[in-house]
Amino acid sequence: MVRPYPPGARLLARPEVVRACASCGDPLGRGYPGCTTCADTVDAYWRADWDALRGDDDERELAAAVLAEVAGVYPWTCTDWALRLVPCPACRVELATGDAGCLTCSRADQARWAWDHGGMPKAMTANEHALRMAVAILRASTRRRSTVVSFWRLVLPFLLVGDTFTTAQARRIKTLLLAGRYDELAEARGYAEMTALPDLPWRG
Ligand SMILES: [Zn+2]
Ligand SMILES: [Zn+2]
Repeated sequence: MVRPYPPGARLLARPEVVRACASCGDPLGRGYPGCTTCADTVDAYWRADWDALRGDDDERELAAAVLAEVAGVYPWTCTDWALRLVPCPACRVELATGDAGCLTCSRADQARWAWDHGGMPKAMTANEHALRMAVAILRASTRRRSTVVSFWRLVLPFLLVGDTFTTAQARRIKTLLLAGRYDELAEARGYAEMTALPDLPWRG
């Protein structure tokens, strides 16, 4: 059996091109997590690592063991998956997804990111980091501003095929989102097309 190894999400090959989701019609992944097809496609990278780690172990016990370790010991995908299996003891929803007032969820969400600064610096690619961020934020959308949620929804299909946006592209996309131009951004076939949208004159 292939064991997952840190960092994570590398057991399965990524799709080479962005396709339309057969269920929701949007670029595959954009419907995460509400659309089951989008969710299954994205989650497959997490599930593959989790299944390989689990073997015949009890899922709940393994989840507790993974969360008891410092970030970086297990693949980040397995830490994320364990969070999904353990309800928050304070607010009872999926751990790290409760509303902004739940400190237990906030702590769990922050702890998972310690990975980046832990024992394996730079072992996670920028694309993997962004993919993980997209999934974490879309699963906890009530904790975030709508512009932030829309941003990650827009970029997820392109992250899935391995494309990584630049800081300047992210800034431009967020500016366009704040200007209410989600629908135009959603038509774009990549970050370059999104950022190439022209500015509109002020409309009074
Ligand atoms: Zn879909
Ligand atoms: Zn909570």
